[in-house]
Amino acid sequence: MSHIVNSYNRLKIPIVRGEGMYLFDQSGKKYLDFVAGIATTSLGHCHPYIVEKLKEQLDSLWHCSNLLTIPQQELLAERLVSLTFADKIFFCSSGLEATEAAIKFIRRYFYVKGQKKRNRIITIEGGFHGRSIAAISAGGNERSREGFAPLLSGFDKVPKNNIQALEEKISDETAAVFLEPIQSEGGVYSLNVEYLQQVRQITEAQGIILCFDEVQCGYGRIGSLFHYQNIGVEPDILTCAKAMGNGFPIAACLTKDYIAEAITPGAHGSTYGGNPLAMTVGNAVLDMMLKEGFFSHVQKVSKYLRKKLLYLAEKFSKKVLEVRGEGLLIGIELKAPIADKIVDQCFNKGLMLTKILDNRVIRITPPLIVKNEHIDIACDILYDSIASNF
Ligand SMILES: *Cc1c(COP(=O)(O)O)cnc(C)c1O
Repeated sequence: MSHIVNSYNRLKIPIVRGEGMYLFDQSGKKYLDFVAGIATTSLGHCHPYIVEKLKEQLDSLWHCSNLLTIPQQELLAERLVSLTFADKIFFCSSGLEATEAAIKFIRRYFYVKGQKKRNRIITIEGGFHGRSIAAISAGGNERSREGFAPLLSGFDKVPKNNIQALEEKISDETAAVFLEPIQSEGGVYSLNVEYLQQVRQITEAQGIILCFDEVQCGYGRIGSLFHYQNIGVEPDILTCAKAMGNGFPIAACLTKDYIAEAITPGAHGSTYGGNPLAMTVGNAVLDMMLKEGFFSHVQKVSKYLRKKLLYLAEKFSKKVLEVRGEGLLIGIELKAPIADKIVDQCFNKGLMLTKILDNRVIRITPPLIVKNEHIDIACDILYDSIASNF
């Protein structure tokens, strides 16, 4: 019997080693990993360069607190600023902490400006922003909220891709619109680019902050460092985590200067956030992602994967409702709620996938280093499992 709190439906087979695209169980059986630790190990398991940099850092300094200047943190911040819309970075250790930071920065900005009533945040139904009380109040589905009352007030939810509903929700108390440009946990739904452009225009015209949660769709998964760069819609704040540390806990809140100015010593903080180990890994991950050809590789393999999945959807049009998503963040919605069965069968055949949305959607988030040959293997296994399951 396990002594772990039962908050996850775990596969019972212990995994003991990872290398590149593969995970290995105790018996040595290998699994092609198309989950990547939930869109996290984007450079593959135990990437030699990241391992080397982390080992070097382990021998010199682990942790010293943010009461001291941390050169690796300054460097990663400088690099992220030079690569994005942002002027300032706040480092933390998980996606939900980045959510919390963004919410606090938004509220504090209007507070410092003397607009204390402007503290409400509009979020989109189906969005996911983490598991803290604030994060489940902001997003999440009913199931993630059930039993955790009282939740926080101050969030107004609107349906996705409905600009009129959003406009009607805006009041003189609205501080920000906070959204996931591609809703992943919510079923892999992309928000329309025209919708996001309109949200940008409206928020800008009304002096409302726009925050993108790129915890899952950011860091290369859609073929650019951040997804906002693919669609040409710039937020004022952005949260990122998951792939940022390739499995080492790192997250960040990227922000414009005018918002960051509201945060003064004591207003926010994190003991671990941005520590030397994390920042060494963060810089090493960026070194790899900024190598010539990295993002164009992601774009190329994404096209290949999509083509193969669309073929599969067509072939099994009685069983597959839709292939959704972008880049290497893909959902396959089935016409029957048997994603768990298919995911289990694929696992037994050596392929790891996840299921979401009440068992109706199979989600595919391989490491970004995936090659066509891995996609061929995965699609063959998936093809067989779907074929044998209806
Ligand atoms: C995973 C995720 C989070 C939460 O990240 P944690 O590190 O689990 O706290 C927030 N937003 C999105 C979009 C996510 O996918």
